[in-house]
Amino acid sequence: MARSKARRFEAERPDITMDDVAGSDHAKEDLKEIIDYLKAPSRYQSLGASIPKGVLMMGPPGTGKTLMAKAIAGEANVPFFSISGSEFIEMFVGVGAARVRDLFAKAKEEAPAIIFIDEIDSIGRSRGTGVGGGHDEREQTLNQILNEMDGFEKHQTVIVLAATNRPDVLDPALMRPGRFDRKITLDQPHKKAREAILRVHTRRIPLADNVDLSKLATRTIGFSGADLENLANEAALLAGRQRNQQVSMEHFDNARDKIVLGAEREGSLSETDKRVVAYHESGHALISALLPNTDPLDKVTILPRGRALGVTEQTPEEERYNVRYSYLRDRIAVMLGGRAAERLIFNETSTGAESDLEQATALARRMVSRWGMNKRLGPVAFRRGEDHVFLGREINQPPDFSEHTARMIDEEIVRLLGEIDEQVANLLQEHRAKLEALAQALLAHETLDAEAIQATLAKH
Ligand code: ADP
Ligand code: ZN
Repeated sequence: MARSKARRFEAERPDITMDDVAGSDHAKEDLKEIIDYLKAPSRYQSLGASIPKGVLMMGPPGTGKTLMAKAIAGEANVPFFSISGSEFIEMFVGVGAARVRDLFAKAKEEAPAIIFIDEIDSIGRSRGTGVGGGHDEREQTLNQILNEMDGFEKHQTVIVLAATNRPDVLDPALMRPGRFDRKITLDQPHKKAREAILRVHTRRIPLADNVDLSKLATRTIGFSGADLENLANEAALLAGRQRNQQVSMEHFDNARDKIVLGAEREGSLSETDKRVVAYHESGHALISALLPNTDPLDKVTILPRGRALGVTEQTPEEERYNVRYSYLRDRIAVMLGGRAAERLIFNETSTGAESDLEQATALARRMVSRWGMNKRLGPVAFRRGEDHVFLGREINQPPDFSEHTARMIDEEIVRLLGEIDEQVANLLQEHRAKLEALAQALLAHETLDAEAIQATLAKH
């Protein structure tokens, strides 16, 4: 304890600049003023301007909050002090507050400076929720941070950047004027940003001519900046393992599949299992090809990867933020297509459909109970505690609807899924020749890309 207390805070001097942060243009724009201020505080002070002391950076993990904070320090050429909220959780009462005091004292000594508090939510949770241990300690640590910020003198140019991916649980006291009253949001990167991030992380990688970062950006929806960095590295590792001089598009594609789908599994399936999986995946693929409101097919494979025995992949052309009923319905149909194909061909279903059913049910539940897409239940969003199970605030709240409603929701989910399942079964029956052709092609080639799928379907 004594040692941890005595541990001195060492400032970093990051050599990262805003050029290392790709995308996030809004956030960069918002932070310009702060960098400018850190570079020449007196210019602002002589005008009587007060600059924000605290900036809250919000965004999912890996979206570059830490990177951005370091880039601010790098651009302004000021020392960077960092600490993580989670460090305080296991501490004895009083230690956290003392550490905070030391940290701020050191930063003030070296001002202008930046203090970065990662995972502020682990100390800055709404007070009085009483969930989890270390309650008093958290409160004292948080109070100490707030006191320090309130006590900044005008000439002490210390800016506190705090990062969180749970802004919803933060104590409102943190956001009061004079504290973390500036907010910067870092979102999961869009296509253009993903391309830019890939560009940053391939700067030092010798790329083959066939590498198309824009295409790769299209195929990496949902990847954070950290995931993209990992992708570039995995591709380079793969090229190295194969003794190649350059990293090619195939390396990137394989690296991507490994990240998204898991590593290819050793050992192969029995012939019977292979047949089941081939029809199952063909069912997904065929329904996707037949219905009008689905994402384009990317590929189908019966090579086991990660936990899946086979995979049917679709790639949305753009990110979807607002989806229509017809899209959701067809999406459920695609999910049910695998199981329906097994039933049609083998007269029975297998456990391989478990996660399909889970996903379909979860989507149907949201359609019925959250998005007002069911006639009988009407335009009501029914809340359940489960969405916020990690929030102390809601942990003991019962659902805000009656048992009667709960039963109706369940009934309507079953009805919706049943309806779609029937439609899917009919479609597969009607296009059975195409289903057979796809399954045979899969058994022969193991993996079919979009073109091969189209060609197979066109022939029948
Ligand atoms: P967070 O703090 O939001 O969890 P990090 O800043 O730790 O995320 O991001 C981890 C890594 O991911 C960074 O070091 C960087 O290499 C990469 N990264 C994340 N976002 C970006 C971005 N916008 N541009 C370039 N690289 C990024
Ligand atoms: Zn499936």
